[in-house]
Amino acid sequence: PLGDAMKADATCQKTLEAFFGHTSFRPNQEAIVKDLLEGRDVLAVMATGGGKSLCYQLPAVLLGGTTIVISPLIALMKDQVDDLQAQGIAAALLTSNQTYDARKAIEAELQKQSITILYVSPERLGLPAFQGLLRTINPKLFAIDEAHCISQWGHQFRKDYRTLSIIRDLFPETPIIALTATATKEVREDIIGQLQLRKPNQYVGGFDRENIRYTVIMEKSEDERFRRLALFIANHPRQSGIIYCRSRKAADDIAAKLRKRHILAQPYHAGLPGNERSRVQDAFLKNQVPVIAATIAFGMGIDKPDVRFVVHFHPPKDIESFYQESGRAGRDGKPAESLLFYSSQDFAISKKLIEKEYQSQIDLSIRINKLNTMQSWCESTTCRRQKILKVFGEKNAESFCGNCDICASAPKLLHDRIISGIASISGRFGIDTAAAILTGSSQPDAHTLLPAYGLASQWSEDEVKQSIHALIRDKKLLLSGNMRVKAAPKTKRRG
Ligand code: ADP
Ligand code: ZN
Repeated sequence: PLGDAMKADATCQKTLEAFFGHTSFRPNQEAIVKDLLEGRDVLAVMATGGGKSLCYQLPAVLLGGTTIVISPLIALMKDQVDDLQAQGIAAALLTSNQTYDARKAIEAELQKQSITILYVSPERLGLPAFQGLLRTINPKLFAIDEAHCISQWGHQFRKDYRTLSIIRDLFPETPIIALTATATKEVREDIIGQLQLRKPNQYVGGFDRENIRYTVIMEKSEDERFRRLALFIANHPRQSGIIYCRSRKAADDIAAKLRKRHILAQPYHAGLPGNERSRVQDAFLKNQVPVIAATIAFGMGIDKPDVRFVVHFHPPKDIESFYQESGRAGRDGKPAESLLFYSSQDFAISKKLIEKEYQSQIDLSIRINKLNTMQSWCESTTCRRQKILKVFGEKNAESFCGNCDICASAPKLLHDRIISGIASISGRFGIDTAAAILTGSSQPDAHTLLPAYGLASQWSEDEVKQSIHALIRDKKLLLSGNMRVKAAPKTKRRG
């Protein structure tokens, strides 16, 4: 069996190179491919650009027969089919826009088992004629792209995705892979339930945008926000950025006010004529207009690698939107900034808008829930990045990323913790033992009972030791003759 496994590895590797032109797998890809080849169901949550397509395209090649891919956007399916054909993989697309003859021709190919990957839209699965066709070709694998669309808990629910629960009923033996770039825990559970996945292996990863620095500012006054925004942009000369605003009017106003300050900014929102929108978008892509003040209408399908900052002049309604919008910065991997302004009023306003927009109780409570998560993220006192990754279910997040506003202020927090901790054990321990007590890694029972125990547990022992040394140099702590750490005497206040 070991020999078989090695053979399978070699086959995967060869196919990766021969058909897809890649030398190595990205994180999780190989494990996912193997699961599918063994007939397991998979739920893959991978960040945009993480390489989801390969996860089902490679097994499709190795499994032979036909793999059915369900995807919501015809334009995207067309691109994929073109790419696959260029790679020498027999791929086709079946849509209602095609002529009757074109559809018949593809169906004939399917009957001959000569199409490896077939892309279809979700509603097609509901058509009895198509279901009959599927029965005769007996697909080897189903891949459901943008699987979060099946869930009301997601931010892009599509009714026609609900049709897809029929796949398991029709093909109880065929493996299914569900793929998405955004899925909170609720959405993941919903996807598994709706698609009737059987004990799927779940893969979640690739969400950390290390090069984006997150900064959040609580500021009620819009004038003050604008003042800080103008300053921020002035500090990023000749750089491209997007400012997301709550309304069309706000986008217009902010762009106009920036232009008064000689910052080349243009508004973008659904209220502008189509040709104006494409002109602005084009000018942004060509670096003729560096700054866009926009509503959420801006950004879909925009792949500009060198956007250096994304500002949220008002907070978004959920963390998925925030992640997606701020994620438009720094696609090139170079340092980029995310800056967000908020106040409790913003969330009160959003809540009212949501109450107007959603009638049903279930929808309403879902949206309010998401809004609350967004608000608590803004108000958080722990690492921004770690919190985002937690929402997306990514494990092993470091407790301090070092690249967000909270982490930037972490050294002060650490110093405060050390000083108050040492005050309670003043003169009793050397630096190493004190650090072990503060981080909570010291073993003796007597230590675990001290109030200082674990006071700095988010930091490593080395970090705490270094800080103790620094504090001693600054005379904020003292070292006694027998090398024990002591609190510095309080400076007396006069008067
Ligand atoms: P997603 O659908 O997750 O957004 P794609 O499947 O479109 O991502 O892949 C994004 C890009 O990454 C594509 O250009 C693809 O060719 C590339 N890619 C995928 N897998 C690998 C790999 N193992 N090695 C190198 N590039 C890869
Ligand atoms: Zn952080």
